[in-house]
Amino acid sequence: MTRTPLIAGNWKMFKTGPEAVDTATQLAAACADVRDKEIMIAPTYVCLPLVATAIANTSLHLGAQNLHFEKQGAFTGEISADMLAAAGVEYVIIGHSERRQYFFETDDMVNRKIQAAVAGRLKPILCIGETQAQREAGNTFLTLDKQVADGVKGVDSKLLQDLVIAYEPVWAIGTGETAGPDQVETVHSYLRTMLDTQISSDLAQTVRILYGGSVKPDNIANLMRIQDVDGVLVGGASLDAGTFTELVKYD
Ligand code: PEP
Repeated sequence: MTRTPLIAGNWKMFKTGPEAVDTATQLAAACADVRDKEIMIAPTYVCLPLVATAIANTSLHLGAQNLHFEKQGAFTGEISADMLAAAGVEYVIIGHSERRQYFFETDDMVNRKIQAAVAGRLKPILCIGETQAQREAGNTFLTLDKQVADGVKGVDSKLLQDLVIAYEPVWAIGTGETAGPDQVETVHSYLRTMLDTQISSDLAQTVRILYGGSVKPDNIANLMRIQDVDGVLVGGASLDAGTFTELVKYD
């Protein structure tokens, strides 16, 4: 089974509309010749329609950083799956550690968001990862098991064929620290086996498992060489079109 590598950029709360369009346009031009990887950018909500227009007919794919699980209603400040899809969004990041940490998202909320995403035909990127304290307590696998199992609970595995899982150890996000190749290999292969035995063997073959956490041009090649690493989710290094292009065109 060949899985197309996904190089995904999470722009977090950075860039105004014109800035996002400018970066997206530069990135699309620089990566126009890339055929062997999928490139996704996730700007803020207000930039989505602008960036969708800027990257139409290019090889870039558009993602959102979050969604609300209800279809519509009195939920001030929230955005639904249908609204994202109508804005040209294809992927949606769900359960990012910053959402869990600063906005108190629970595994139950993450599950409802996954359900809303698949119902709205968006491709969910389920973010999971242990904190430093969980790792030190020897609870890394317990934490990941629960985040995956709760995240996809009750969702028919046939609806999860576009699921992407991003393994992002919380202690490696935005810190400059990257998990070592052995750690990444162990966790990714554990996740693939866990999907196989506990969810669906078909799904285990199709799901792309990304690594995230201080990915930079100087470490991406070593990460991408690891078996079961099907791409990366990048924060800081995705903000600059030149640096992001180096990530996409690593060798
Ligand atoms: C992220 O936010 O998903 C992330 C991995 O950030 P950074 O690359 O900056 O560590």
